Amino acid sequence: MFDKILIANRGEIALRVVRACREMGIASVAVHSTADADAMHVRMADETICIGPAPSVDSYLSIPAIISACEVTGAQAIHPGYGFLSENARFVQVIEDHGLTFIGPSAEHIRIMGDKITAKDTAKALGIPVVPGSEGGVASVEDAKKIGADFGYPVIIKATAGGGGRGMKVARNDAEMENAFRTARSEAKAAFGNDEVYIEKYLQRPRHIEIQVFGDGKGKGVHLGERDCSLQRRHQKVFEEAPGPSISPEERARIGAICAKAVGEMGYAGAGTIEFLYEDGEFYFIEMNTRLQVEHPVTEAIFGVDLVREQIRVAEGLPMSFDQDDLTINGHAIEVRINAEKLPNFAPSPGRISQYHAPGGLGVRMDSALYDGYRIPPYYDSLIGKLIVHGRDRSEALARLNRALGELIVDGVDTTIPLFRSLLAEPDIHSGDYNIHWLEKWLESGALRQG
Ligand code: ADP
Repeated sequence: MFDKILIANRGEIALRVVRACREMGIASVAVHSTADADAMHVRMADETICIGPAPSVDSYLSIPAIISACEVTGAQAIHPGYGFLSENARFVQVIEDHGLTFIGPSAEHIRIMGDKITAKDTAKALGIPVVPGSEGGVASVEDAKKIGADFGYPVIIKATAGGGGRGMKVARNDAEMENAFRTARSEAKAAFGNDEVYIEKYLQRPRHIEIQVFGDGKGKGVHLGERDCSLQRRHQKVFEEAPGPSISPEERARIGAICAKAVGEMGYAGAGTIEFLYEDGEFYFIEMNTRLQVEHPVTEAIFGVDLVREQIRVAEGLPMSFDQDDLTINGHAIEVRINAEKLPNFAPSPGRISQYHAPGGLGVRMDSALYDGYRIPPYYDSLIGKLIVHGRDRSEALARLNRALGELIVDGVDTTIPLFRSLLAEPDIHSGDYNIHWLEKWLESGALRQG
């Protein structure tokens, strides 16, 4: 059993892990850059250690700095959170080489799922339905055009090493392909140091539905239903809910069983998310994330389980605390991502928080590392909080979201709070009638009220 865990992350997710550790009686170590010396995760952890200067390559992404921090503090295990090194197979390898434990899946599983072509092949072999597209990478514009002709335009060109919604380009015909193919490759090279791309049929009005899975690493796999994360801007999620308003219990059971079985067969350990596009009653695999997701709290709300606690248990070699039959959905949950960004262009808005007040009351959870007087540094992600609401049904959750947004105060910087207030005035949000393009179209139409 672990008695000390180091958290290789910052912000709200580091705090989330500190909280799970404390409930389990495990000491936590916060690492931080010089820019984060006053951060909330540092204040809340049992021990803290500075691991380098502000740029994340020299701190939160520095494997030697994090391993040294473990050795200095005597932590036996590392929780990676999401982002940073959470899906870095080499990091896992180095951790294991030092006799430490990574709280997450094996390096091998991270490697397989980190390469989107291998991931798709693996998913297919495990019986998971995938988006039709190229067999492996596409090396030339000529080959790309041939795929456009074979599958029918539009198609989407995606980076094999992709992530975070970057390096994707849509082509609607041969002429567009010329440009899109070259841009996708050069963007992939710049963002991921790897210019390999592959091509998929571009689905016109799908929803983004992802299945939360969990494995014990010994052949058992379970699923915790879906999250609908269709409300996206630039392929990045802003509003997530569970269960998905368009998914019936039968469909959930069908796709959930396929995913749970796949995870069991892989011998996967810990939390994972299998992402799909969903159109006309069909699921199409796009990728698997081998870590905890930002939006995991909506799943926790409706199933009443602590996914971080479960990750730690599995990493300790303990059995999972639930079986598939123990998991029943209770009500509806919604999460909105509060970013320090200025609307309508979502430009980063770092700075000093002059006043912060978190909402409360029944069914409200605020995961945030903000406090009065905190200075948001300009070096990292703009996510500053997640507001999660839970109600007996979707309409109660929406009413609660509206009420909680009214209580939330974040002064001193610009935030995306007005976006959600404005969205709640939309009939489509209330009826659940939206797909992955809805938000961008709505933003383009100028419907966003910033008041
Ligand atoms: P990333 O790893 O960068 O997040 P994903 O493959 O998960 O990339 O895709 C992110 C988002 O891009 C999806 O949620 C969806 O909105 C859009 N997308 C990806 N593939 C397709 C596709 N074949 N057709 C339509 N949209 C797509």
